[in-house]
Amino acid sequence: MGAGADPSASNSLDVIVIGAGIAGASVAAELSTHVRVLLLEMESQPGYHTTGRSAAIFAPVYGPQPIRALTRASEAFFLTPPSGFTEHAIFSPRKILMIARPDQEETLDALVEECQAETPVEKLTGSRLAEEHPLIRDGYASSAMLDPNGQDIDVHALHQGYLKQFRERGGTLVTSSTVEGLSKGGDNWTVRAGGQTYRAAKVVNAAGAWAEDIGQMAGAETIRLVPKRRTALMIASPSPQQTDPLPLTVDIDEDFYLKPDAGRLLISPANEDPSPPCDAQPEELDIAYCIDRIERAFDLSVRRIDNKWAGLRSFVGDKCPVAGFSGQVDGFYWLAGQGGYGIQTAPALSRFAAAQVLGNPVPTDILDQGLDPADLAVVRLKDLVS
Ligand SMILES: Cc1cc2nc3c(=O)[nH]c(=O)nc-3n(C[C@H](O)[C@H](O)[C@H](O)COP(=O)(O)OP(=O)(O)OC[C@H]3O[C@@H](n4cnc5c(N)ncnc54)[C@H](O)[C@@H]3O)c2cc1C
Repeated sequence: MGAGADPSASNSLDVIVIGAGIAGASVAAELSTHVRVLLLEMESQPGYHTTGRSAAIFAPVYGPQPIRALTRASEAFFLTPPSGFTEHAIFSPRKILMIARPDQEETLDALVEECQAETPVEKLTGSRLAEEHPLIRDGYASSAMLDPNGQDIDVHALHQGYLKQFRERGGTLVTSSTVEGLSKGGDNWTVRAGGQTYRAAKVVNAAGAWAEDIGQMAGAETIRLVPKRRTALMIASPSPQQTDPLPLTVDIDEDFYLKPDAGRLLISPANEDPSPPCDAQPEELDIAYCIDRIERAFDLSVRRIDNKWAGLRSFVGDKCPVAGFSGQVDGFYWLAGQGGYGIQTAPALSRFAAAQVLGNPVPTDILDQGLDPADLAVVRLKDLVS
């Protein structure tokens, strides 16, 4: 339990945020500048679920257009976080290389054309491609799109930075506190969690893979959220000196990726297997697919797995986040469906959500990147089938 007055003792709260992953931590920090906020987390460690299991990449060319706009709008925060937010840089440069076999050329060309208007990407072939990634097997990839503006993100520093900022601004975090009941009476929500009862005018649902369950508890609309399992393995590098500077390399159809990680290699089959919300674990079949795809594409043979894990990336039908008030119950704000982009978009998405929760205009720097708030609104989901 964090510092501050006992939040269950009075009606002194303005907003209760459910879930202290990156989404909940960042929006709670943004809100706590202006109002009194309680952050409830069911685990003893706030980063235990998806936030602590990511590949930690900032990829400006990744995801649908609204995601790319949020990613660009987040870059300034990553590069220059507020004073005292972290002790060291959150970003370290990591180019992004999206590779294509001859039969995938059309998809690559379409993406190059789409991204060129937004960011300085380059199409590579032949010796330029081999130079950028000498481990790609001869004859496997015919071309690639290179984005020089990718970064590795220090996710732990980012997440802890938001939690620290939240506490410094007077917010209270209660861990090991599972929200079990939500009801609206008069102007206030009553939230039951961890044997306590809390009241606040507004609730923000940042419960990751559990967000649909929280919505049901509140009597809100369904958003057809589907948590999808993604597996990652850490393997030895044949030569850390050679592999550490290599780009994150992704199959253009997202069938696998490989990323150097502090002297080792993080590899993934980029699977998206629907799953109920749970403590996701890697499955043997995913591991076998991963090794097969990586060995086909790269001049590598996987002899030993040093570490393996899985996490749930939660999507609605159009793969864009859901950030907006419920149309069904007053004062209930959805902040869900961040999919595979919740870390790289957190700085902009949290400012967007905080502005809406407070009834303020969306910051213009986010709109200037081409974000249309309607693309995140709950109402759009009526037309989508997931
Ligand atoms: C393998 C993998 C690779 C990824 N790579 C990247 C990447 O490179 N870049 C990127 O930007 N994104 C990446 N992502 C996606 C990113 O990790 C997610 O989008 C992001 O972490 C989602 O954050 P969240 O806060 O919504 O969810 P979570 O971190 O899961 O947080 C939700 C929290 O809600 C809590 N909660 C749930 N129910 C309750 C309840 N009833 N009461 C109280 N608390 C509750 C949970 O305990 C949890 O802590 C990756 C994900 C995976 C799995």
